[in-house]
Amino acid sequence: MSSNGTLIVISAPSGSGKTSLARRLLDRVPDLEFSVSHTTRRPREGEEDGVQYFFVSVARFEEMIQAGAFLEHARVHGNYYGTSAEFVRRRLQAGKDVLLDIDVQGARQVTAVRGDLLSIFILPPSAQVLEQRLRERAQDTPEVIERRLAVARREASHFRDYQYLIINEELEKSVAELQSIVLAARCRTPDRSERAAAILATFER
Ligand code: 5GP
Repeated sequence: MSSNGTLIVISAPSGSGKTSLARRLLDRVPDLEFSVSHTTRRPREGEEDGVQYFFVSVARFEEMIQAGAFLEHARVHGNYYGTSAEFVRRRLQAGKDVLLDIDVQGARQVTAVRGDLLSIFILPPSAQVLEQRLRERAQDTPEVIERRLAVARREASHFRDYQYLIINEELEKSVAELQSIVLAARCRTPDRSERAAAILATFER
């Protein structure tokens, strides 16, 4: 692995199964860490501060924007979400790959400043499947679900802006595809140039 890790961005309309996929990917791939975002949305049941998100007030979030603390930030479903630049930088410097689960607006901002990132979009098999998943999840009120569906429709059309596309019909197959993308990226020649130089040096007597 190179001395600096890779930023990996995944985006998907909510209900695409992105969270389950990300969790499995993190379990299976070593040296890959989840970027814990800041948000002003309320914690859902079972969510813990510092694990899924850092839950902060709007005032605190706006202070962080002013201080330039975010690599990217956006308003999604009426709440603020943002990626801490420091959180990501520390892990990349330690040689870890960092997984950002962010929306299309955030992905656009990160792409503008980090041309070397890996970007992956996840689509559900159909809008009907997505709607059914959102209702079954029963985490949100009907109005919130309606709002999420409207956003999902808009978000799905952005798949072309990403380097890779996963169509999440079957969880196991999708995880295998994700894993392949991340592992293949680690074999890129520029990322291995330091190790290659060391190997070539062993040929010289
Ligand atoms: P949820 O509230 O369901 O956890 O997330 C809602 C949406 O916000 C998801 O599409 C998720 O990818 C996105 N999101 C989560 N963290 C961030 C972030 O730090 N920045 C941006 N731009 N979007 C985020």
